[in-house]
Amino acid sequence: MTSPGKILNESPEGGDVRTNEIFLTVPFAVVAIVAELSLALSPRTDSLSAAIVSLVLLAAAVTTYFTFMKRGRPWNRLLVPLFYSGSVLALVIASGSSSSGVGLVMLLSVVWTALYLEVWQSVIVVSFVGVCEFVTSIVPDDLTNPIRMRRVVMYLLVSSLIVFSVQQVRRRVARVSEERELLNDGMQLTIGALEESLRSASVLSHLVDMLNSCDSREEAYEVIEHAAERMFVTGGTVSAFDASNNQLETKCAWGELSGEHEAFSTNDCWALRRGHEYESNKGEITCKHLRGSGVAHTFCRPLLAQGEVMGVLTIAMSDLSVEPPLAQIVGIIDPFPQIAMSFGEQISIWMANFNLREILRHQSIRDPLTNLFNRRHLEEALVREISKATRTFEQISAIQIDIDSFKSFNDGYGHAVGDEVLVAIAEVILALFRGSDVPCRSGGEEFTVLLPNCSWGSAHERCVELQRRVADIRITTSQSRALLTPPTLSIGIATSPEHGLTSQALLRSADLALYASKSDGRNRISRALPETESPQSDATSLKVSR
Ligand code: GH3
Ligand code: MG
Ligand code: MG
Repeated sequence: MTSPGKILNESPEGGDVRTNEIFLTVPFAVVAIVAELSLALSPRTDSLSAAIVSLVLLAAAVTTYFTFMKRGRPWNRLLVPLFYSGSVLALVIASGSSSSGVGLVMLLSVVWTALYLEVWQSVIVVSFVGVCEFVTSIVPDDLTNPIRMRRVVMYLLVSSLIVFSVQQVRRRVARVSEERELLNDGMQLTIGALEESLRSASVLSHLVDMLNSCDSREEAYEVIEHAAERMFVTGGTVSAFDASNNQLETKCAWGELSGEHEAFSTNDCWALRRGHEYESNKGEITCKHLRGSGVAHTFCRPLLAQGEVMGVLTIAMSDLSVEPPLAQIVGIIDPFPQIAMSFGEQISIWMANFNLREILRHQSIRDPLTNLFNRRHLEEALVREISKATRTFEQISAIQIDIDSFKSFNDGYGHAVGDEVLVAIAEVILALFRGSDVPCRSGGEEFTVLLPNCSWGSAHERCVELQRRVADIRITTSQSRALLTPPTLSIGIATSPEHGLTSQALLRSADLALYASKSDGRNRISRALPETESPQSDATSLKVSR
């Protein structure tokens, strides 16, 4: 707690307090000078030298005040009341006796000292005034000793009472102003915390809005990083759990942690190990994944959804944040943990939703048995690829594949073996075709592959290789483990624009070519007829190029 003396003498700004003091000292000076004049003009003034000493001391009091007013040490400032009391004493001696009102004139210096100086300085001034009073009471001859003693004791008592009362008032004023300052600081902190919460809430709602419109993870991480940079300016990272290699990969990194891109395991983070947030400050164990960062104060919040680890949010904490003691005194709750929790919550929800969306999307476009695209995706992809090929004047080939006499696998070895055959052929297709091709299971034992930017010749080469690889498939029955004769494939190939300009026309041409392969004895690759030559219905009458 600041002492009252300190508040008046050691204000950081100084100027205000001193200006106030000068302002209040002026009436004192006026009263003191008037009082001195009244003494000096007393008709009984008979010692000129004492009067001159009095004037010199009064001038010394005024000069000392203005000299040490700003940078004066306590001892220097103490000279002001002492000079003044000395001046009054000299005047009383000059007048040869104790004039009425001398006591009050003396008390002025006591009051001034009590108001502006420390308690110990007041004690000195009170003692000095007591001595002066004793001296002035000696001068008149008509006073008895008991009366003199009573006057001195009365003076000391009144002076002490004045000092005590003024000090009490000063203490009270100081306490009130200290409380007011604390309250002001608290209010500023509260307003700051409120503004921070409001700003974070608006960034969060914007984040949610943007995340809902993101189509890819890359886009979403860009949005998250942008929001995080505004909310946690010191720095941080967002790492996502990759179940395929059982590691966390850092997707966003900013501020002081922008260099943190190393993958790490769940065991390297205390928050992930414990399943709830972990703050590491000086003296605490730092998470392993942050040891190279050089950031001492960090906060990790696991990103969980239905108990599953989605990732972890790490925030670099600034040591210059709200000073806890003051925040505690004024009862402010630090908004940071709540903001970090809400931010993490939103990312977890988005991660869980996005995963679910991907699973649903995967399920809606993939065949569950073979993991190839399904017919629905084929139709969409065909329309898209044909229009792209038309724009870029590129060729696009469609391959229709049908397993020959597939029914015999089902009938001879059971449905499960039939499924195994389907899966084995799908694996060959997935391995053989490019990433930009679209391999689909278009029906029970039928497959369609779209090959963008691919001529009929290249598609034919692929089909020959496909037949060769399928002929090498080794399938055993589950009971006898006997090796089955691999299936053969009948294939029809159509290439746009020659065999069809629209998606339906291209598929129909490929279908007709496939029927031609079947009718020609199976295990064949047939080329579709140019679109103008294709009959609308009779597939068997097709002329087939092989
Ligand atoms: P073709 O050479 O004329 O194509 O003769 P195929 O026996 O292959 O053709 P068919 O159309 O006569 O029989 C197709 C069979 O494929 C009938 C059906 O039971 C079987 N099938 C369709 N979907 C599945 C499946 O998902 N799993 C299994 N195991 N068999 C399937
Ligand atoms: Mg069929
Ligand atoms: Mg078949």
